[in-house]
Amino acid sequence: MIDVIDLKKQFDNGFTALESVSFSIEKGDLVCLLGPSGCGKSTILNLVAGLLTPSAGDIQFSGKSVVHTAPKDRNIGFVFQNYALYPHMTVLENIMFPLTVGKNKIKKDEAKKIAEEYMALTNIEDLSAKKPGTLSGGQQQRVAITRALVQKPEVLLLDEPLSNLDARLRLRIREEIRKLVKEVGITAIFVTHDQEEALSISDKIIIMNEGVVQQYDDPQNLYLEP
Ligand code: ADP
Ligand code: ADP
Repeated sequence: MIDVIDLKKQFDNGFTALESVSFSIEKGDLVCLLGPSGCGKSTILNLVAGLLTPSAGDIQFSGKSVVHTAPKDRNIGFVFQNYALYPHMTVLENIMFPLTVGKNKIKKDEAKKIAEEYMALTNIEDLSAKKPGTLSGGQQQRVAITRALVQKPEVLLLDEPLSNLDARLRLRIREEIRKLVKEVGITAIFVTHDQEEALSISDKIIIMNEGVVQQYDDPQNLYLEP
């Protein structure tokens, strides 16, 4: 489903964040990008999303190169570390928003119906009329994930989505994310620096260090530092 081929990223200041990164992700898999802060995880996610342009190499979705495709035409959902909800909109409006803009926009009442279906899936129907600022971190995270899924993207990208939550909530939401990803059958890349988190939710794990892939395997086959 996703092929990353000899991907290189050098920033304008000359710093090379990715040397030559290659991996393939199968359709429906939840893959974690795991590694210490600064190793290039967000850079990979931003390249896959189209928020950055590679210096060399290719990114393909179902065999087709997307490197010259704008983010909005890549059929991805993105969940940011800080959720990035629109503060002036209600929860329902936040979730409807992606359906009511751009060239594939649909009518308001149709968008509302779809938004409500997804809100039922993530158990946030009762938050519908609230503003993001009045929600807890865990609730905001659910809203962000629901908004990312509502357009039925082929690929879901999550950049450290649990790092702003307390420990207990992190455990719960990560289980919910795994369940949801499997339920809707989406291909997902989940960035984390937390080894235990990666081991608990992944079908496969990509371990990165300083801009290179060190290992890529099923959780049980990885060699892990004690
Ligand atoms: P991670 O997500 O693993 O913490 P990042 O992908 O954010 O790492 O960053 C990888 C490296 O690239 C870091 O050393 C970071 O400082 C550097 N970097 C990220 N963005 C830029 C940029 N726009 N210009 C220069 N260096 C950057
Ligand atoms: P993350 O928490 O995802 O690792 P960072 O805090 O490293 O993100 O980076 C936040 C933003 O700053 C990103 O857009 C990244 O591209 C940019 N950035 C990171 N490091 C540098 C750098 N050394 N020079 C310029 N921009 C950077």
